[in-house]
Amino acid sequence: MQTTKKLSLTSRIVIGMISGIVLGACLQWFLAGQDERNIPLFLFDLPVKAFFIDGLFHIGGQIFIASLQMLVVPLVFISLVCGTCSLSDASTLGRLGAKSVGLYLVTTAIAITLAITAALLIGPGVGVDMQTDTTFSTAEAPGLAQVIINMFPRNPINAMAEGNMLQIIIFAVLFGIATAMSGKPGERIADLFQDLNAIVMKLVTILMNLAPYGVFCLMVRVFSTMGLDMFSSLAAYFFVVLGVLLLHGFVTYPLLLKLLTGLNPVIFMRKMRAAALFAFSTSSSNATIPVTLETVTKKLGVKNSIGSFTVPLGATINMDGTAIMQGVATVFIAQVFGVDLSLTDFLMVILTATLASVGTAGVPGVGLIMLAMVLQQVGLPVEGIALIIGVDRLLDMTRTSVNITGDSMVSCVIAKSEKQLDETVFNDPEAGRNDEESVDFKHIHNS
Ligand code: ASP
Repeated sequence: MQTTKKLSLTSRIVIGMISGIVLGACLQWFLAGQDERNIPLFLFDLPVKAFFIDGLFHIGGQIFIASLQMLVVPLVFISLVCGTCSLSDASTLGRLGAKSVGLYLVTTAIAITLAITAALLIGPGVGVDMQTDTTFSTAEAPGLAQVIINMFPRNPINAMAEGNMLQIIIFAVLFGIATAMSGKPGERIADLFQDLNAIVMKLVTILMNLAPYGVFCLMVRVFSTMGLDMFSSLAAYFFVVLGVLLLHGFVTYPLLLKLLTGLNPVIFMRKMRAAALFAFSTSSSNATIPVTLETVTKKLGVKNSIGSFTVPLGATINMDGTAIMQGVATVFIAQVFGVDLSLTDFLMVILTATLASVGTAGVPGVGLIMLAMVLQQVGLPVEGIALIIGVDRLLDMTRTSVNITGDSMVSCVIAKSEKQLDETVFNDPEAGRNDEESVDFKHIHNS
């Protein structure tokens, strides 16, 4: 019989994360000054970098991310087909789509407006004299017409193989609608998809229980390899982005949730912790989809018919954190290069950054590439990106947590407005916890 109280999953992830950060920082210090410091001789012989940083921790971290990503395509497809067949009619679906896209765009526009205002008030780039001989080139960002055409899959198998989320969403929705319209055969297929959904969700739960180790490996590697030499000159930029990210995450979202649904934002934020930590350590909204979906449906009480649609859609098109970085970065780069932006320029930045956020894939670092599109729009040099790249890793981690918190908040708002939110689940602090604890590996092994 087990008498000790089990730590919650969130606490275990936090422990994994903090120990990873501490060990990573120690390794960074150790590797940086091997010659200067008086480190005992035998330590010199330890191939720390090859065996641990580029070996053990790299492999552990990458396997963790790969196993999360492994679930994304099947999970999105299966749960979205389930969700769509349970929606009564096509008009519900249209309403849902319009509401989600509308809300996603509005929250992104608020985010970027906040970012630009803060950057203008604080002026992180004023008086900064930085080396600008570095160059940065990006692939050409696609035009709007092409973005729309690209949403429609020519070959759904190819879309799945490439993990093209918008194409998968469109195919799954159409497949779900056809299933719902197909009478008896449709019912059989719908039952099959419900069963598949339960199995994939169980896989998510199993994986979540392994997360503390995966997160530990990821953190050791990030913090042992992250170069922070440029940090002092970029501190103002870094803290403005971080400040606005925190403001948006801890003030705008709770406020919107309260205003639009009347739900308790403290409960919401508390239940988002584990998913936010996943997003922080993977830097990828896409890879976090399984965890976000689990949080939204099992802990926050959003019905699968809504969550299966809003979560993958949000992970693909809703990037408030990314828009915040892009807003501050644009103002910062303009200040560093001594360019005065007009009011029209700022409106242009809001518009393009909102669209760029739609086009940004939920994978690490893409926000920085899409920044090229925003800079070009207002005639700023794309090389400016090279200035901020040094501190982007940490900001990427933080903005990804904001991105998925936004997706979950909008999911709750839409579910509530469609009367598809179970408030008993939302208000129950234990909701979803049982699942986390119920994976008994000994049992799996023995049976
Ligand atoms: N890493 C971010 C995400 O996955 C995207 C970005 O800003 O680069 O949400």
